[in-house]
Amino acid sequence: MREQLEKIKKEALKQIQSSEALETLNEIRVSYLGKKGELTNLLKSMKDVAPEERPKVGQMVNDARTAIESCLEEAKAVLGRKAREEQLKKEVIDVTLPGKKRKTGHSHPNTIALEEVERIFIGMGYEVVEGPEVEYDHYNFEKLNIPKGHPARDEQDTFYINDRILLRSQTSPVQIRTMEKGKLPIRMIAPGRVFRSDEVDATHSPSFHQIEGLVIDKNITFADLKGTLAEFAKELFGPETKVKFRPHHFPFTEPSAEVDVTCFKCGGRGCRFCKGSGWIEILGCGMVHPHVLEMCGIDPDEYSGFAFGVGLERIALLKYEIDDMRLLYENDIRFLKQF
Ligand SMILES: [Zn+2]
Repeated sequence: MREQLEKIKKEALKQIQSSEALETLNEIRVSYLGKKGELTNLLKSMKDVAPEERPKVGQMVNDARTAIESCLEEAKAVLGRKAREEQLKKEVIDVTLPGKKRKTGHSHPNTIALEEVERIFIGMGYEVVEGPEVEYDHYNFEKLNIPKGHPARDEQDTFYINDRILLRSQTSPVQIRTMEKGKLPIRMIAPGRVFRSDEVDATHSPSFHQIEGLVIDKNITFADLKGTLAEFAKELFGPETKVKFRPHHFPFTEPSAEVDVTCFKCGGRGCRFCKGSGWIEILGCGMVHPHVLEMCGIDPDEYSGFAFGVGLERIALLKYEIDDMRLLYENDIRFLKQF
């Protein structure tokens, strides 16, 4: 029996030492120490051993069991360590590798120009107001002193949805909506997208942006309008900038004017950029027509005001010396990256 025991022990230890996986160790444990394992079977044959020999044999079996168990534990620890090391090796982070540069976006030239204009007017105490892009004919034309059949309607090729509803051709309806609310005084700008059925070329697009401005209060005069726009031009194009008002006609203002600023490239001496004139046209403006005030429920004898409208794209093109408006809509990353 002693020989048999030694043989089992030797065989078990040999198997344990040569095993390379934790599962194999488990199988070995079962096959030797399990309920039907070899060592357990050997114990069952104790009844054949002479009674006086039994304690000694029992001791030997226990020793063998302990030897196999401790050998198993040791092998398990070694294999576990090895597995952990392999995992760590696989998951190692090479901190010396150069990092990947994250691509950050850029603000669109339109956005930069809009934020600049908003900053200037908010600084002068104006509020930024928005209105719907799908608008009533009523707000887009009628209440702006452009009744049906008025020639000004022909100048603005409008996208009609039906007889009453259209895509707004200007941001001016936001003025009407604000005046109708009846909260006076008003100092607001209304930036937004407008639509006209224009062919696309270097200076036209069926969809572009306007920024409309409106001030209504007691004792507002043309001098306030001139002062405000002169300040705006200086903020936007530099402190040396001068403004020039040319008489013009808009149905919803009286008197009306177009405003030029001195060319910020040549300072007014004349260059290729301003086509030699020294001036660049930037916006239209005027005193709000008394009839428009009346239609919005404001007493023109008590209140007066001025309005102006500027093309956002026009400002972006001027500011960044871009000569083709289409570039602003193509969203070519190579173009946008420059701003
Ligand atoms: Zn110039």
